[in-house]
Order: sequence, then structure tokens, then C-alpha cells
Amino acid sequence: MGRSYTRSQALFKEALEYIPGGVNSPVRAFRSVGDHPLFIDHGAGSRLVDVDGNEYIDYVGSWGPLILGHRHPQVVAALKKCVEETGTSFGAPTEIETEMARIITRAFPSIEMVRMVNSGTEATMSALRLARAYTNRDKILKFEGCYHGHSDSLLIKAGSGALTLGVPSSPGVPKDIAGGTLTASFNHLAGVEEIFSRMGEEIAAVILEPVTGNMGVVLPAPGFLEGLAELTARYGALLIFDEVMTGFRVAWGGVQTQKDIRPDLTCLGKIIGGGLPVGAYGGRREIMENIAPAGPVYQAGTLSGNPLAMSAGLAVLKELEKPGCYERLDQLTEILAQGLKAGAQKAGIPLRVNRYGSMLTGFFAAQEVKDYKAATSSDTLLFKEYFQLMLARGIYLAPSQFEAVFVSLAHSKEDIAQTVEASEQALHQLAARF
Ligand SMILES: *Cc1c(COP(=O)(O)O)cnc(C)c1O
Repeated sequence: MGRSYTRSQALFKEALEYIPGGVNSPVRAFRSVGDHPLFIDHGAGSRLVDVDGNEYIDYVGSWGPLILGHRHPQVVAALKKCVEETGTSFGAPTEIETEMARIITRAFPSIEMVRMVNSGTEATMSALRLARAYTNRDKILKFEGCYHGHSDSLLIKAGSGALTLGVPSSPGVPKDIAGGTLTASFNHLAGVEEIFSRMGEEIAAVILEPVTGNMGVVLPAPGFLEGLAELTARYGALLIFDEVMTGFRVAWGGVQTQKDIRPDLTCLGKIIGGGLPVGAYGGRREIMENIAPAGPVYQAGTLSGNPLAMSAGLAVLKELEKPGCYERLDQLTEILAQGLKAGAQKAGIPLRVNRYGSMLTGFFAAQEVKDYKAATSSDTLLFKEYFQLMLARGIYLAPSQFEAVFVSLAHSKEDIAQTVEASEQALHQLAARF
């Protein structure tokens, strides 16, 4: 469609000289969908503009945080005020940290106390340490295809970039640590029961994305989350919901509030930092008070709870608190889901669209996608072609079959309609090649 990418290509070539793979996070590299990523010049609302001047409707949203879109006026104002009148970091307490903690505890009934950190990786890593200390057990159980950041214990059968690039269990993780991580299949409760029946007394915690985004969007089967809550309670293990992606995205209080389940610990990130580096973990007071300096479990951070991230995050949460936000996100994303399905049907291409709130994945799969096996049976080569055809039509999707599309409040009905039309054309073009 006449788009040129020459400047992105040149910048990528230069970056490859100095940065491993040319990127500061593997998911950005476009390895599974093309030969170079786009270098971004700027964003505005639902749009991105790359360094060659091409414009896109953005469905990545910085991989989830930008639920208000790019440069939302309230976020920009909060950041400006913070830089000009407050400062960027003190390493001493500030009032807005308590304000953030108060809002989080109000939104999540399971969270009585919360500790801020600087990434989702830190949040899950710290929650595991706390769970191990609290239960005096070492093993943890995670699910195939779930991604919880890149700490050693959690890079076992991991999703997201690790899955896309074919390194779900990373070299460099010591055997002893890998051996402490048990894995089960998402949505297969019987398998989890079997593991607990063998070694339930050694398991400190079960951690999962209650709705997955990192193997693409997969919804929990009826009874699955409830079953995990029952099992962990029965064996004295902690249940950790990793809501780094879903927290404040699918609903004000995350998946757990919608499903009325109270995990022992919850991990947050992404949206609560408004586009700045952030993470948080929280839970019952009696567990959280084991963290230093209230208790002996050490966890610290030079920039934790820094005023910039707190200001941006609070500005976002204040917008999301307004009535109608989640209804609007739901409606827009449902229109998109229906449109994508209809386009695929017309073209005769099997596309399984899983949606939860404003997260969606269209899997090029023959069967319904309810687990890791079905997700990974998707036709990734077909996705690659689809991705490029969408990009050529100005639609910026996550560069992997195993990621979510994120709709933001900045997306308009026209954006969605344009996307549906682009998808219909792309699928039509693909069908012609069959
Ligand atoms: C993004 C993500 C993380 C990791 O967060 P970072 O800030 O990238 O370290 C952890 N868990 C889930 C579910 C995520 O989506």
C-alpha cells in the first residue's frame, strides 16, 4: 500500500550494533512476523506515528498500560505538575503513595495492604518470596503459557515473548530453582489436583493469570478458579492472582472482583503506572505484614512508589473511576470481536476470537481455544501474513499470535469500524491464496 519503512530499517540496523537483538524487550522485535520492528516517533490518543511518518491505529497500547490511549491530557498534566512542582524521586515517603495504596485496596476487596515496586516482574518475584516465607515451603505451581515476568522461578514454560520466540524455559535458570517450579495445564483442574495429592504439603503457592493474555486471551473454564481457591485453601498453599495485565483493565477490581474470588495475594502493574515503570503486590494484612520493615521478608526499591509513576497512575485511575468507562470498553471490544469473526466467516478462514473485557485474541485455530494446547496449535504462519496485511492497512497489532489486542478509551467507533474493514480485506486476500 505504498508505505515506506526505510527509516525504521536504518534505525533498527544501528540499534542491532549496540542492543541485543536491537530491542530492550524481546516481544518488540517482530521476529515471528517480519524482519524489523517499527521505530515509533510519537503517539496521540488511539494513534501511533512511526519514524517514516506512517500512521496506525494502535492495539498494543504499550502492551496494556495505555487504557486511556497516548498522551491523555490528564496524565500529561499530572506528569508536568509532578516534574515542575514536586520532583521525580526522593527515596522518602510521599502522600500520593498512600493515596495509590488506598485506591488499590478499595478496588480489590482481597487487598488490605499493598507494596509498590517498579515492574510486574518484581511484583510476582516478591509475592513468591513472601508466599514461601509465609508458608515455610519452597515449591510453586504455575501454568503452561502463563507469563509472570522474567524472574528465575517463573521462566518455566512461560508465555509471551518466551513462547513466541520458542524459549519458554530459559537457559541460565539454575536447575535447583527450575526444579522448584511445578507446571500444570491451564483449565485442567484434575491435573492440579493430582499434583497436590502427591506433593501438596510442599507447595507454597499457585500463581496464574486468572484470564490469560500471554498465550493470547484464554478464559477460565467454569469452576476452574473456584477449584484452585478450594485446593490451595485445603492444602495451606497461597493462591496468587497475577493481575498485572487484567487489573483495572477488564474491570475496576480485576478478574477476581468479577468472579468473586479472593486470592491470598494479587500482583498488579501496567495500568496503575499510567505508562511509567510500575508494579505492586498486595493481599491480606496478616500476610503482608511479614514484609520488611514490618516483618522479616526483605524486599526494597530505590525508585519504588516514585512520584512520577504514582502521579501518572493516579491520573489514569481517576479517569477509570468515572461511570461508564468499562461499559464503553466492553461495547467497543465486542463490536471489534464480532467484526473480526464476521470477516473471517466471509473469507472462510477459521478464526477463534476470545474476548474478555477490552482484551481479545483472534487465534487462527481450527478448534475453540480453551487451553495452551489449543492456543499453540494456531497457524502462526497465517498470523504472520495477516499481521503484515493489517500493518499495511494502518493497523498496529501485537507482533505475535500469542498476545492480546488491547482496546482503549481513546479508540473511537470509527477506529473500530476501520479495523474491522481492514481485517475483512486482509482475510479476503489471504483466502484467495489458499
Ligand atoms: C506484563 C506482565 C508481567 C511483567 O510485567 P513487567 O512490568 O513487564 O515486568 C507479569 N505478569 C503479567 C500477567 C503480565 O502481563
